[in-house]
Amino acid sequence: MTFNELGLSEKVLQAVVASGYTTPTPIQAQAIPHALAGRDILGIAQTGTGKTAAFTLPMLSRLESGRARARMPRTLILEPTRELAAQVEESFIKYGVNHKLNVALLIGGVSFADQETKIMRGADVLIATPGRLLDFSERGKLLLTGIEILVIDEADSMHYMGFIPDIERICKLVPFTRQTLFFSATMPPEITRLTETFLHNPVRIEVARASSTASTITQGLIASHSGGAKRETLRRTIRDAENLKNAIIFCNRKRDVAILHKSLQKHGFSAGALHGDMDQRARTASLDAFKNGEVALLICSDVAARGLDIPDVSHVFNFDMPTHAEDYVHRIGRTGRAGKSGTAYSIVTRADQRYIDDIEKLITRKIEWFGPTLGELPASTSTDDEEQPRGRGRRERSPSRGREPREHREPREARAPRPVDEAQPVVQEAAPAPAPRAPREEQQPRRTDGRRPEGRTREPRPEARPEPRRVEARPDNRNDQRPNARRHRDDDDTPVIGLGDHIPSFLLRPVKLKPLKVGSED
Ligand code: AMP
Repeated sequence: MTFNELGLSEKVLQAVVASGYTTPTPIQAQAIPHALAGRDILGIAQTGTGKTAAFTLPMLSRLESGRARARMPRTLILEPTRELAAQVEESFIKYGVNHKLNVALLIGGVSFADQETKIMRGADVLIATPGRLLDFSERGKLLLTGIEILVIDEADSMHYMGFIPDIERICKLVPFTRQTLFFSATMPPEITRLTETFLHNPVRIEVARASSTASTITQGLIASHSGGAKRETLRRTIRDAENLKNAIIFCNRKRDVAILHKSLQKHGFSAGALHGDMDQRARTASLDAFKNGEVALLICSDVAARGLDIPDVSHVFNFDMPTHAEDYVHRIGRTGRAGKSGTAYSIVTRADQRYIDDIEKLITRKIEWFGPTLGELPASTSTDDEEQPRGRGRRERSPSRGREPREHREPREARAPRPVDEAQPVVQEAAPAPAPRAPREEQQPRRTDGRRPEGRTREPRPEARPEPRRVEARPDNRNDQRPNARRHRDDDDTPVIGLGDHIPSFLLRPVKLKPLKVGSED
């Protein structure tokens, strides 16, 4: 099949030839003739399949007749992110070189005034993110009653980002008779409901199973402990990766993107970041730097990276395992595009096992382990590892750690181990987890009832006195207080019982302790 057979206009065909494309991709071959015929389309296709051209090319052909009026765009394309919107604009510029069409972009994070000027001029194609579009519409600066074609792209992303109510509102603002081209990589129930409500007798085109991952991608799991050990695993994986040219690294949270970005830079990696809290200028600069090869690693959140067309990404790393199995498919789809080979490694901790199960169920295949499996992972020696008993112990001991969100703790730990961290191995070596913790837990009620400290100060028992190393003589007869355990307490920031090891000098006066002959110690 060639592009000539699809029914596209001469101007569009010339632009396609100029782009260097000779053969339509499956989604293009199947969708374009129906789109040109005015049918609604439900396209189930991942990014990388050529779906942007599948709606851009027929739209351009159809827009050749007619003109846009001020404030009344003729076609509307909804995208979940600003980057995707900008990417679609680029497609219109590329394939629309032979057309004199006005293309307007309505995205958040940039000035209203410039966007308004474009809308006032009359837009043939309006590419928008839902929030900014509704802003314009509510201010009366935009009328959607002239929309002939509505494109909803990356519908499942919109769903995950909470845009479905906005989409429903927008669908009610555009004429009932418009043509709708609807694309989604996956079809969760909410998306199916949306298509049943807003599409009219659509042609359903599914180019690859929504759950499929490209066969050109080598996938691997790398077991790791969490916390700082995980960043260490990532660094090692990056260093060891074969043929790594550039990589997108995914984190589940925006804050973690920023943290990992700083950490990688600190370790000398060429890295940029992309997440939703960055302003638009910074996002564009990061993306451009990665596309131009100025930075080799781009650390991203899902939202920022979904659907981006960045050719030639050699590796994808999941620093965090995605919690939605579909996101795994999207993420690793950033590499191995257009028939090229790619590699996707996921760094997984014990807490991720259920996500691995979900993903393997979705993609109906097992992902290979590179190195030890989670079960074979040697015990962590890292003080950061929160899966280890010592991690729990540390959090219990240090109230500040318990209060502070993990994301905010990590960079500090990455910069320099804190004193408590230095003490930690001693604690671990000296006392297996359950043994030392039991008496520590018992301390709490004693501390709060107030009776024991009072008793001690009023009537110190001779055994409680001076010699810090005579631990067997402590009032509660804790004969587990070995020297190492004592160091544990010394490094501890838990409030001490009564006077703890500090004995005021008046209690040590020899006169009161004559019978025991300890006066010489004072
Ligand atoms: P998309 O799925 O729209 O993000 O497109 C993925 C990539 O495939 C983009 O870089 C397009 O430029 C490229 N592409 C689109 N159509 C074709 C085609 N017919 N032949 C080769 N590459 C294409």
